[in-house]
Amino acid sequence: MSRFVYVNDRFLRRHEAFIDIEDRGFQFGDSVYEVIFVTKGCLVDEQGHIDRLAYSMGELGMDLPKSPVTISLLIRELIRLNDLTDGLIYMQVSRGAASRDHLIPKGLSQTFIMNTRQVDLTAKSSINEGVDVITVRDIRWGRRDIKSTQLLANCLAKSEAVRAGADEAWMVDENNFVTEGSSSNAWIITDDQVLVTRPPTHDILNGITRRTIIDIALQNNVMFEERAFSLDETKIAAEAFFTSATSLATPVLSINGIAIGDGVVGPITKVLQDQYLVYAQQTSL
Ligand code: PMP
Repeated sequence: MSRFVYVNDRFLRRHEAFIDIEDRGFQFGDSVYEVIFVTKGCLVDEQGHIDRLAYSMGELGMDLPKSPVTISLLIRELIRLNDLTDGLIYMQVSRGAASRDHLIPKGLSQTFIMNTRQVDLTAKSSINEGVDVITVRDIRWGRRDIKSTQLLANCLAKSEAVRAGADEAWMVDENNFVTEGSSSNAWIITDDQVLVTRPPTHDILNGITRRTIIDIALQNNVMFEERAFSLDETKIAAEAFFTSATSLATPVLSINGIAIGDGVVGPITKVLQDQYLVYAQQTSL
């Protein structure tokens, strides 16, 4: 738990922080968020996350709460106050507080919060050794490219996975094609060594880790195809993994109880994981 949090222009001790009970983020999920990975004091893909925050807000008719430069400075101050070296930065912006009404009011004063979590993700066994995945029907709304806090379907999917003894749920659309994980992007490597992930349409969140992994794959001469893949295709995949700021590149050992490849961390996945960490630990504050 972070000692200090940021709420609307102030750094406060966590127990001193509060938001209005009529905040639209709380009542309607009328808010967006970002999560940034911090490793060995490096802030990974900060610009990408701030750009995507601006994108999500723009799609919902909101402006960034501060300039990108000011947001960067505020992030750095929170890192300093919490002595954060390894972990996560969470930021959320809601449209603000107003008397409860579905009609979106104009001119509200946004609620902008940030907190941090100290955790060394690089040491997590799930990331190093891989996990099992189940699939569930994707029941979310049609604008999954917007990183909104309306995450109930994602929470239900993740909880179903854990109840089934797995670690992540991959969601499938009405044609049985995988959209993405409950909080991650989904990837397979086919039998003929082609890395495949779904294109960034409205159907999925265009992960910042996803974009970086594509760059790393291309730099390492991994063959790459951006296309949707079906649940049936996962059964004959050589390797599979998922990506996000919190799961980095996590190997998938099985899907719905069916082993992927040899049921161990695949060689291409391992190269991408390793190169991702090299990349991450070269970024600076
Ligand atoms: N898809 C969903 C639904 C997610 O929640 C996340 C992580 N927030 C991602 C993909 C991965 O995004 P990123 O790599 O930017 O963390």
